[in-house]
Amino acid sequence: MRAVISGAGITGLALANRLNHYGWEVHVVDRAPGPRAQGYMIDFFGPGFEAVAAMGLEPRLRELASDVDEFCYIDDRGRTTVSVDYGLFAKAVDGAIVSIMRPELERLFRESVAGAVDLRYRTTIDRISGSDVELSDGTALDADLIVGADGVHSGVRSLVFGPERDCFRYLGMQTGAFVFTDPEAFERVRGRFVLTETLNRQLGFYGLDGGRVAVFTVFRTDDPTLPEDPREALRRTFSGMGDLAEQALAQCPPSDEIYYDHVAQIDTPRWTDGRVGLVGDAAYAVSLLAGQGASLGVAGAYLLAERLQAAPSVLEGLADYERRWRPVATGVQQAARDRVTEWFVPTRMATLLLRRWGFRAMKLPGLDRIMVGPLFPKNHRSMAELGA
Ligand SMILES: Cc1cc2nc3c(=O)[nH]c(=O)nc-3n(C[C@H](O)[C@H](O)[C@H](O)COP(=O)(O)OP(=O)(O)OC[C@H]3O[C@@H](n4cnc5c(N)ncnc54)[C@H](O)[C@@H]3O)c2cc1C
Repeated sequence: MRAVISGAGITGLALANRLNHYGWEVHVVDRAPGPRAQGYMIDFFGPGFEAVAAMGLEPRLRELASDVDEFCYIDDRGRTTVSVDYGLFAKAVDGAIVSIMRPELERLFRESVAGAVDLRYRTTIDRISGSDVELSDGTALDADLIVGADGVHSGVRSLVFGPERDCFRYLGMQTGAFVFTDPEAFERVRGRFVLTETLNRQLGFYGLDGGRVAVFTVFRTDDPTLPEDPREALRRTFSGMGDLAEQALAQCPPSDEIYYDHVAQIDTPRWTDGRVGLVGDAAYAVSLLAGQGASLGVAGAYLLAERLQAAPSVLEGLADYERRWRPVATGVQQAARDRVTEWFVPTRMATLLLRRWGFRAMKLPGLDRIMVGPLFPKNHRSMAELGA
């Protein structure tokens, strides 16, 4: 059996791992020139963590992860307003969580398929007709399975399922992320996840290693137009937020080294059509507000491979995957829209203060589980219950 996967991100490579495990011939293409170096920190827990453990990759996942001991908010003078021991979060999910940079999570899966699958960068799927696939490098393949794991702006989805505008849901925010090196700034955030406690806009900092600091930004805007020069837009939008912010903005790399995009969800009525399937952000992006997109990408890929293995045909395997997984993904999307948006980037001082007191309450004996639980919802049945 032969599979062609578009997208060598977290989801596409996790799927490549599983299909290869089951003896498929796997081809993965990605339009990027090579593995991405830039990125942002991902808190990885939930069904994706469960899938990684089932794949036997948990020890390597933990090796590639970053050390984060504390989560805190700071005001515009750099003073900590509230802090929480990260161990409380880990306790809430029985230790099944890591903080890992996105390129490192991709690396985990890429390493796991090295030499076993055909991986081509600077390549896209240009045409799909039945089982015939044409790649941009001129290769023609006869595939049993074609998968779009190519993210929010999926090429496979546009080719087979219709234009992006029909399934793109803008959530009224834009986000950017970059890494800069500054030993002094690094010392201020070492071992911590530091967030600015601000209305309508927010900066987050993680200390990496070697004096590097990972920064992520999010701000509210009704205008979905993306800026031509993201660095200039970040400097304009996030000025006046204190010393750490100024250090980060001053050392922000050129725009082509910044991740920048809408905060958005993908809501498409079908994930499968004939031999073609969608998985991960391409099918059901939940947005950074949900804090689970990578986890759902990996878990969706894992479940898809398991259902293909169990089904009598590829078409039935694809349909079975969608039937089991769609309620989980749409449930997370709904929760992100209904509950997380105002909590994550408050528009009102009342929410900000409520959030501050909520986090402070976590230090009170007995309240930690009650307060932390909703941040890490057990919103999924176990992968085994889902049929993986
Ligand atoms: C700031 C931020 C913080 C986040 N934090 C978390 C978190 O804490 N926890 C969590 O679980 N999730 C988090 N997420 C979400 C998570 O990063 C995504 O859900 C996840 O990366 C989706 O993986 P994917 O492989 O499906 O898509 P992507 O990561 O988008 O990968 C898609 C791949 O396809 C390639 N591609 C695109 N178009 C084409 C094409 N036409 N042809 C070929 N290749 C193509 C791209 O180059 C890329 O390699 C966060 C997101 C952001 C933006």
